[in-house]
Amino acid sequence: MSLNHPLGPPESERHWVATAAELATGFAATAAEHDDTAELPVGNLRVLHASGLDAALLPRELGGEALSYRSFGEIVRILAAACPSTACVWLMHVGAATVLVQLSTPDMAGCYASEFRAGRRFANALSEPSSGNLFLMPLQEAEPVPGGYRLTGAKRFVSGCEIADHLLVNALVDGQPAFFGHAPDETVRFEPIWDAMGLRASRSQLVRFDGTVLRAERRCPPPDPEAPPRPNHIAAGLAFLSLGIADAALAALLRHARSRTLPTTGEPLGALQWVRFAVADARLRLDSAVLYAWHMAWLADQCAPEFEPAALRAKPLANEVARDIAQLGVRVGGGSGYLRSSPIQRHFRDAQAPALMAYSVEVCKDRVGQEVLAEGTADAP
Ligand SMILES: Cc1cc2nc3c(=O)[nH]c(=O)nc-3n(C[C@H](O)[C@H](O)[C@H](O)COP(=O)(O)OP(=O)(O)OC[C@H]3O[C@@H](n4cnc5c(N)ncnc54)[C@H](O)[C@@H]3O)c2cc1C
Repeated sequence: MSLNHPLGPPESERHWVATAAELATGFAATAAEHDDTAELPVGNLRVLHASGLDAALLPRELGGEALSYRSFGEIVRILAAACPSTACVWLMHVGAATVLVQLSTPDMAGCYASEFRAGRRFANALSEPSSGNLFLMPLQEAEPVPGGYRLTGAKRFVSGCEIADHLLVNALVDGQPAFFGHAPDETVRFEPIWDAMGLRASRSQLVRFDGTVLRAERRCPPPDPEAPPRPNHIAAGLAFLSLGIADAALAALLRHARSRTLPTTGEPLGALQWVRFAVADARLRLDSAVLYAWHMAWLADQCAPEFEPAALRAKPLANEVARDIAQLGVRVGGGSGYLRSSPIQRHFRDAQAPALMAYSVEVCKDRVGQEVLAEGTADAP
């Protein structure tokens, strides 16, 4: 679908989308290797920072360009099509940094913005082994001590944590969820649990806190109800992570359908009616999910209250389209697609992860289903 669409990235920002596309060509060339070795794509992340993309996301008053969510989403999608682990770690990095810049006290916000511009790395240490998907409702308490709050516990699946200079951490303080920035110190350990099926190079490890003092001055004050924070970049970006994987999966299966000749007919696989019906369905569903995600990103650009419900719909739509297209790839690819040397099997493995990431498909659908059932009743939102 052409970017030349009212809901697509604004024309004045297209050069950023072109920059991402240019860098993505290099990332695609090493994606299989990163999947194989499960090493963090540190070189890709450095190149992204050097291109100026990180800084462009910051507000203008902090040296950025306040890049729109429409462009941001498209950039995540392009990166995910090339190397989804790179896209995942970058999304988490940008998400943690922009939250800390937005929610911290003005002094700390300036400090985090300058760290972000300088190329320091950020990660989200939010999900707990016990809280799982409900990552904004931490169950671990941080107890008040001089200078801050002491946390003993663990956060799980923290993408890119091993190279993080700053972690966004949440914990209960006096029974209420609180957010902190924390620079990993000797009380923070990474446990290498991440031998995963897909997004292998995201290295989403377990982070253990052993009496870690989360410093009081790095605690984010409660948001001002008169000036609500801008939409969260991760909430806006997760649908695009799946859409990029879906793009890559569809491209790989189309290549196979065009190039595989059936001995019985001498025709390509793509000449079979079931394949034509299936790829039509894949294209229609993918385009619909893209349009919905663009609509969601447009709402984010307006800071509209409708953004949050739209994000809850855009994510499961994109997650399921990616999973289904990747699954179709395995059918169309046959034994050739099942080989480790084929990108088809990699897309299939990568497509599973975003559906599990919070909020999972089930959690999103539970919320959307409740809203649908309340429609037209007194409880309607
Ligand atoms: C690749 C990857 C990267 C990640 N990166 C980060 C990161 O950088 N930082 C971070 O903090 N976290 C990260 N996470 C964690 C992620 O966002 C989820 O919070 C975490 O995976 C959920 O915990 P769980 O997997 O144990 O699943 P659970 O929450 O235990 O879910 C298990 C099953 O139960 C369902 N379920 C759970 N709760 C409900 C409910 N209320 N209603 C309906 N169904 C429900 C789920 O849909 C799922 O099917 C990452 C996860 C993955 C897979």
